[in-house]
Amino acid sequence: MIAILLIAIQTSFASVSHASGTVYSYKWGTGADVTKNSLIKKNIPKSNITNKVLKAAKTGTPIVKFGNGNGPRTLIVAGVHGSELSSQVSAMKLINYLNKKKVIKGTIYVIPFIAPKATSANIRFYNGNNLNKIANKKGSITNKVVKFAKSKNIQAVGDFHCTMPGGLPGKNIILGTKNPTLKSAKMAIAISKLTKHPYKNEYQAGKSYPGALEDVLNLKKIPSVTCEVKTPHGKIAKGSITSSYKQMIAFLKYNKNI
Ligand SMILES: [Zn+2]
Repeated sequence: MIAILLIAIQTSFASVSHASGTVYSYKWGTGADVTKNSLIKKNIPKSNITNKVLKAAKTGTPIVKFGNGNGPRTLIVAGVHGSELSSQVSAMKLINYLNKKKVIKGTIYVIPFIAPKATSANIRFYNGNNLNKIANKKGSITNKVVKFAKSKNIQAVGDFHCTMPGGLPGKNIILGTKNPTLKSAKMAIAISKLTKHPYKNEYQAGKSYPGALEDVLNLKKIPSVTCEVKTPHGKIAKGSITSSYKQMIAFLKYNKNI
């Protein structure tokens, strides 16, 4: 009877509790089995919290929460482009690291697979849409993330991507914007210093990349950066998971979460 009640309570909140990380599944119609992507399956850490995230991804967008809300409130996003695998694997490594960590300052949210359907199929677009061009469109998945960030009073967002060799930017790089949220540019410089990856700051958010998640967040005054690592899309180049992980740790250090 108690077991049934516990299951009922867990189901009604759509979350699974853990000593440090809590896994939620946001029912945005995005759910899929991401382990159908063999490179994801092969490279993510095997653990209890990984299993919880994989389960949550089957029914929606998984979001993992760490910490108690006092102090800096940050959000890490990966998988805006489903075939950019290194950053998504890195986000799973980060979740496993944070889950074992005794002390976390403030609150960290991690979205390792924003659109599990696209990740599962190893494709760049979600339902034919480039999610990094429609964060300003009501109802889009990236717009839902913007709303999520607003509702949780998030103070900084890191959006982690992969860039093809020979593509644009085609190298490990940290991207920020000066206006209207100068902290975005400052954060890009700080992460650049910590990772030794170069940075590039645009002057005005929404000009070169309207609808990009980073730009829309910066326009909403939530300081955000885009962090890119070099690897072919749909594949994982040697060292690219480590590079993305370094960027995530630098983001959390700059924001004083760890
Ligand atoms: Zn991307």
